[in-house]
Amino acid sequence: MTTTSDPTEQAGQTRPTFDSLSPVTGDVVGTHPVHSAEDVEGAVLAAREQAAWWGALGFDERATHLTTWKGVLTRRLAQLADVVHCETGKPHADAMLEAALAIDHLAWAAGKAEKHLGRRRVSSGLLMANQAATVEYRPLGVIGVIGPWNYPVFTPMGSIAYALAAGNAVVFKPSEHTPGVGEWLARTFLEAVGRPVLSVVTGLGETGAALCRAGVDKVAFTGSTGTGKRVMAACAETLTPVIVEAGGKDAVIVDHDADLDAAAEAALWGACSNAGQTCIGVERVYVHERVYDAFLDKLVALAKEVRADDTAGTHLGPITMPSQLDVIRRHIDDALARGGRALVGGADAVGERFVQPTVLVDVPEDSLAVREETFGPTVTVAKVATIEEAIERTNATAYGLGSTVFSKGRGMQIAERIRSGMTAVNGVITFAAVPALPFGGVGDSGFGRIHGPDGLREFTYAKAIARQRFKPALALTTFKRTEKADQQLQQIVTLLHGRGTTLPKLNKRVKRAGRPRG
Ligand code: NDP
Repeated sequence: MTTTSDPTEQAGQTRPTFDSLSPVTGDVVGTHPVHSAEDVEGAVLAAREQAAWWGALGFDERATHLTTWKGVLTRRLAQLADVVHCETGKPHADAMLEAALAIDHLAWAAGKAEKHLGRRRVSSGLLMANQAATVEYRPLGVIGVIGPWNYPVFTPMGSIAYALAAGNAVVFKPSEHTPGVGEWLARTFLEAVGRPVLSVVTGLGETGAALCRAGVDKVAFTGSTGTGKRVMAACAETLTPVIVEAGGKDAVIVDHDADLDAAAEAALWGACSNAGQTCIGVERVYVHERVYDAFLDKLVALAKEVRADDTAGTHLGPITMPSQLDVIRRHIDDALARGGRALVGGADAVGERFVQPTVLVDVPEDSLAVREETFGPTVTVAKVATIEEAIERTNATAYGLGSTVFSKGRGMQIAERIRSGMTAVNGVITFAAVPALPFGGVGDSGFGRIHGPDGLREFTYAKAIARQRFKPALALTTFKRTEKADQQLQQIVTLLHGRGTTLPKLNKRVKRAGRPRG
């Protein structure tokens, strides 16, 4: 833990540690403590004290603190990108991009929290006209954030920034592959704010599991669907609510009128950037038959220009988690064994640490490369006779995270029919960079939302207050209710709802009735 006293060291015992390794060289990047269940409980207890202070501040004061932190992050962007680069292997420029987008989200969350969470009046309705009704969104307390390694700044910050802006303290468990990034974030927060409202626990999966059982008020988990289920089961023991941001199998639909250059570039970047290790990465493309060949030619030409290696200006870094190499190899081999063809890359694309871009065609829809998350720089491309078929095949997945449509004439109509939490039209992954848009999926991609007003509200509970302004003409909530009152209620309800009038029409009628005559 970066912020609590260390009982193990106080007892003179040596704390177990683990190393984070460079995926490029295998060298040790850093050594970090493995925090035990007891340590994690201590961290949550300490965070609770911070939550009391932080939660009692007004929105303005919290925004000021978060803005100070934002300034530190911005001024040290290159330093943060270095840590990300060392632990994940991704190109420095990609690490900068990820961190810059996270800073933009932090700014939005800090600036908009009051607007979306502060107390506001709501209509009390005709029957309760004597009440002043208000709602506000109160912080939950302490949020446990469990993050993945692929975007070790952007992804957890989607929860951390919004949870903090909503008035919560956060205990963050970064992935065992990127603990240094987590520690860097907590260190700079402490420096900027002066109190450890954001703290970090490090370790392996067990430390994450301990966080689920440590008495936090909500867990925001980002990672694989399988681990998400284990997190949910652990949280169920204590009725701890949970957000699950899990994997995906996102598709691009290319319509016959699409800008094919833009579509090919977007499909390639969506599939291969971050070496394909993107939850909202493109893994499938469905192309209208009228433009299939033209699109494929463009995609193949572009893909041949992209290489994964460890040179300074490389487009693609290594596969961060060594075990993922086997998954990618299995998906490519299965596709080829079942009649698929690799137009770029293929069986030899998977090296010891790097995977070269791979474009697969003629791959059966029930093969691994089409059905399961590959998480590598590979993409399947299929021809469809109609856009109906493209939508059907896009939706034929247990996942439902992101999606992309390229169409000049009917982008919105197609987007509306895709079963996914987010869709980019004539762009790729753009929704993730718009702070006001909620981020999250359906089905095996999980539930709950980060980012935007929904993302702020995820870390709160709604507090409703009805305050009596004057005595009601019709006293309903009393045992002294009279028969006359019951009759009047019946008359009013019949008048209001008896003719199946919709609420807007009803409001108009009431307004009209209230207008002075003559
Ligand atoms: P994992 O599910 O393996 O791990 C995610 C986090 O959970 C890590 O911090 C991990 O710790 C921790 N963890 C592992 N076991 C447990 C447990 N039993 N209880 C609690 N926490 C545990 O995912 P990856 O890190 O491999 O990330 C890749 C996956 O994340 C992909 O499926 C990807 O699609 C998804 N993802 C989803 C995003 C989204 O927003 N929807 C964004 C980014 C990624 P440790 O690393 O120490 O094992």
